[in-house]
Amino acid sequence: MAQASMAQNASLLDVARAHLYQNYRKPDFMLVEGRGNYVYDTDGRRYLDLCGGIAVNTLGHAHPRLVAAISEQAGRLMHVSNYFYNEPNVRLAERLTRVTGYDRALFCNSGTEAIEALLKLARRYFSSRGNAERYRIIAFKNSFHGRTMGSLAVTGQEGYREGFGPLTGATHVPYGDLDAVKAAMGQDVAGILVEPIQGEGGVIPAPEGFLRGLRDLCDAQGALLLADEVQTGVGRTGRWLAFEHSGVRADAVAVAKGLGGGFPIGAMLCGERLADVLPPGSHGTTFGGNALASAAALTVLEVLEEGLLQEVPAKANLLQTGLKSLQTRYPKLVETVRGQGLLQVLMLQQGVDARAVLEAALKVGLLLTLAGGRGIRFTPALTIANGELEEGLQLLDQVLNAVTSCPTS
Ligand SMILES: *Cc1c(COP(=O)(O)O)cnc(C)c1O
Repeated sequence: MAQASMAQNASLLDVARAHLYQNYRKPDFMLVEGRGNYVYDTDGRRYLDLCGGIAVNTLGHAHPRLVAAISEQAGRLMHVSNYFYNEPNVRLAERLTRVTGYDRALFCNSGTEAIEALLKLARRYFSSRGNAERYRIIAFKNSFHGRTMGSLAVTGQEGYREGFGPLTGATHVPYGDLDAVKAAMGQDVAGILVEPIQGEGGVIPAPEGFLRGLRDLCDAQGALLLADEVQTGVGRTGRWLAFEHSGVRADAVAVAKGLGGGFPIGAMLCGERLADVLPPGSHGTTFGGNALASAAALTVLEVLEEGLLQEVPAKANLLQTGLKSLQTRYPKLVETVRGQGLLQVLMLQQGVDARAVLEAALKVGLLLTLAGGRGIRFTPALTIANGELEEGLQLLDQVLNAVTSCPTS
């Protein structure tokens, strides 16, 4: 049995290498099952999941409420297109706008599409007022906003952009530098797009006062403040939106990753002032906000509101304290620890092979991802238990200890 399954597994990996487009680097195993915060591969090996599908699996794996909601909705009504209302979508719009304090939600299927909606909203806002030359977006160096042409044009990292030009319409200035934003401002600027914490860029929180400063600059120029909360939103930092920590409100917000708890769905949220900017026919999507995706997202929001959201700060504190003690134990390996809520990073020192650390973590049964080149990023499900975080910290301690005792290049 075990032999047969291993052989099957090996041949399936061969099939993967032969037929999957090789735009990812993936380790040599196949995950087949997940329960809570553990996933299992074809050989029955268990992994503690502290990456949560990159801040997506808000409720962990196979959460009974989410499984029930999706199963039930799949048997009732999955998709009718956006030519018709569907009930879960309307309930989701109501709930998502209530918890975030916005008025309207436009649904899509991913983070990059939510960003596209923000960009189209900003351009159309001005063009519909007879000001079509006002289209430029100020965005930030080291940002990540997605992979489609529009969202890539605002992404501020050369690694993602290379070879895909021309990518136009955006100006990139250093994150946290209000003077640079001021200098880049002009009558052609439609909006400023900002992540409250740069996620892919290395989990870099906006400096104190930065978001407030952007808000003031936008108000002075009549430009729109656009928040990319694709990674930080839906409870990740302990609030519905990470912007809430600053007391600043963006004019429109993109959310996605954690919204569906693993089911693809994204949304653009805005206030009533922008409700007429995209009239019928101007923007849309076939799948966005379908009944199945909406039922999933609705359940995620319900479970968060029933108490899970409140538990984030204590869990975050345990995680960050643990990571800081690893920094103290391994000062030659760890440069710093930072983040907010359950979005944390352990930045390795320059010269430490982050990919090797990640691979060593896999070997001891720990799933993590990188951010910012040499950051070990933690984005566990919000259902993560204290004991599971402690187990993860212990495993990482083991990994760092092994790295210390056999220094590599
Ligand atoms: C992941 C991410 C995106 C893109 O989302 P996709 O669902 O991968 O298209 C955009 N912005 C931020 C901040 C992200 O973390």
